[in-house]
Amino acid sequence: MNMLSVQEWRSQFPIFQTNMNGYPLIYLDSAATTQKPQIVIDSIVEHLSTANANVHRGVYELSQIATDRFEQTRNRIQQFIHANSPTEIIFTKGATEAINLVASSYGELAFEEHDEIILTLMEHHANIIPWQEIAKKKGCIIKVVPISMNGTLCMEDYASMFTEKTKFVSMVWVSNAIGVENPIKQCIDIAHSHGVPILVDASQAIQHKKIDVQSLDCDFLVFSGHKVYGPTGTGILYGKSSILDRMPPYQTGGDMIRKVTFEKTTFADLPSKFEAGTPNIEGFIGLGTAIQFLQQISMDDITNHELALMNHAIKLIEQKEYIKVIGYNGTNVSALSFSMDGVHPHDIASLLDRKGIAVRAGHHCAHPLMQFYGVPSTTRISFALYTTVEEIEECIEALDEIHTLFHA
Ligand code: PMP
Repeated sequence: MNMLSVQEWRSQFPIFQTNMNGYPLIYLDSAATTQKPQIVIDSIVEHLSTANANVHRGVYELSQIATDRFEQTRNRIQQFIHANSPTEIIFTKGATEAINLVASSYGELAFEEHDEIILTLMEHHANIIPWQEIAKKKGCIIKVVPISMNGTLCMEDYASMFTEKTKFVSMVWVSNAIGVENPIKQCIDIAHSHGVPILVDASQAIQHKKIDVQSLDCDFLVFSGHKVYGPTGTGILYGKSSILDRMPPYQTGGDMIRKVTFEKTTFADLPSKFEAGTPNIEGFIGLGTAIQFLQQISMDDITNHELALMNHAIKLIEQKEYIKVIGYNGTNVSALSFSMDGVHPHDIASLLDRKGIAVRAGHHCAHPLMQFYGVPSTTRISFALYTTVEEIEECIEALDEIHTLFHA
């Protein structure tokens, strides 16, 4: 891998021909959503132009073609994360829906009053509220693993949190708000040593590193298609079939049944049991193409490129005495959060935008984490395979100008 290949990868993303406020777009908000390569865009257009039909239903050729293309994505995802079977891959609207599905369905199956659910302080709201809702319904207790100021998960606290009442762990792999990576394999092994299943929120890991759910041995893993170069409105729930088989459906309707009478309904096998209604067909076809695109590149090359970007960014940022990095412990994956003396994150983001630089300012859907750091919001820069060293340097130079403007 060299800078030439980064330029080659980047050239496949048409958005980078766009100017923003008169400047070439510098997109440093890939943790919010990734840009889409041309082949993903083309595959959606091509599908809608040549093979649009509903899936799983028609006996006619067009519907068969649509179904084959749609199901091919399931096979690709299975290979990509090395699941045991395509039936362990459930299509959802996104990571949010996948977590809601597990909280609601597994919670219905297994939680009882006074049971305990373990989360961490750095969870996205999507991995807090679904658990709160099922906890309210079933009378369960939520326990939160603390972190230290540099964003490191307190492993001793985590390990000592388990009791005979602990029924579930749900944990982010890489924090969207600060970019810190949790030692997920160790966390999975600890949960299993207590006989407790664990869900891994891989929304900020899937696009940055090779994932093998069998060697991880996680019980569930979720991510959104739009963060891995695919379309919005697509998401994946991986679950071990031995658990998914026992869980009740999350939603009901067409496509998820075996037989319906007014007295009784029997449900289809996996994965259909969890896929009621017409899915986002063209979205999943686009997601399949995105995965194919990544498989052609190599995840290891992407990881190495993004690690080099992170090392460069932190070196430059640490030289700025007016910037305080929030939650950096050396494990950070493609996202850095910071605050600047006397300047509100929204002002930073607006002023950068005037130069065509897109960064995120806000609470990053992580209120509890912001409360821990004692800030209402941060500015976050985040990278993807198409990000260049020059873009990071331009952004950091622009931060100098903003600081000067506010302190002149
Ligand atoms: N978890 C994490 C760590 C995330 O970064 C996000 C998206 N910001 C989500 C969950 C929710 O993803 P979505 O909004 O695509 O469902």
